[in-house]
Amino acid sequence: MKTCDLFKKKTVLSFEVFPPKRTDAVDTVYTTVAALKELSPDFISVTYGAGGGRATCEATLAIASAIKHEYGIESVAHLPCIGLTKAEAASQLERFKEAGIENILALRGDMPEGGTPAGDFAHANELISFIRERYDFNLIAACYPEGHTESESVLADIGHLKNKIDAGATQLISQLFFDNDYFYRFLERCRLAGIGVPIEAGIMPVANKKQIERMVTLCGVTLPKKFSAMMSRYENDPEAMRDAGIAYAVDQIVDLIAQGVDGIHLYTMNNPYIARRIHEAVHRLL
Ligand code: FAD
Repeated sequence: MKTCDLFKKKTVLSFEVFPPKRTDAVDTVYTTVAALKELSPDFISVTYGAGGGRATCEATLAIASAIKHEYGIESVAHLPCIGLTKAEAASQLERFKEAGIENILALRGDMPEGGTPAGDFAHANELISFIRERYDFNLIAACYPEGHTESESVLADIGHLKNKIDAGATQLISQLFFDNDYFYRFLERCRLAGIGVPIEAGIMPVANKKQIERMVTLCGVTLPKKFSAMMSRYENDPEAMRDAGIAYAVDQIVDLIAQGVDGIHLYTMNNPYIARRIHEAVHRLL
């Protein structure tokens, strides 16, 4: 099933999982997926380490394929194009196609330290056009409620986002954010720019302070005062921090659903316990 069709019927709930770093630990992700299945997500997406070579591609492919065929849940395979030649991209796409995967999150990928690697794609819109001209995948793109870290302004970023839609993306998933007002302003600007596709809100429940500090550096997201206060108060009490993080995410999600969001994409961090607690709190609202 093409995941873009899901939004016609309901508020979508989807999850993200990642392949474990150690290849000998890959089975642990299947325990996670089995637990997530009990929450009846509309789809599960699988990340792909940019520049990770063949092993990364294999892991994403195997997990996305198992989610679809063994667990009976629609899957989305992420595909960053940075450093890829067109021939390499085509070879990976052929493998996704052979595995029966119908949905691709087409990304550029993060710039590695030390400059731009050689490859045939400068930006995600080029990958999207490349795929659209040759394949029948449903194409999803990433978006950034507070602007991408490299963009000169949110408006310039939205201009580039429109190129991804014009190239063939049919739905968007947002980067995480902790202040819903940024997301609402972003939605308004997207609609004004003529972007009418469904936009899922990316929500990351906070489990520890280190993880957030990494995210802030990497993604440049704003931490609201009440969020920072929560982190300071519970930083030395992991269980309290986890519970506070769940409560914060639930609060964000309830507000987003009340405002009519198209969907919620939960960055599960491969932690089904947290996903289940959030699901318990919000599933009747979807
Ligand atoms: P692009 O759309 O190419 O945008 C990158 C930057 O270039 C932006 O600042 C944009 O404004 C600018 N830009 C775009 N087009 C042009 C143009 N024509 N001229 C000038 N500037 C332009 N990374 C991974 O490696 N693996 C993953 O699995 C992964 N999953 C992700 C899932 C989600 C939901 C999100 C939000 C991000 C994910 N990322 C992943 C991170 C992503 O790869 C990075 O954020 C990356 O830096 C940008 O990717 P993009 O596809 O948005 O790039």
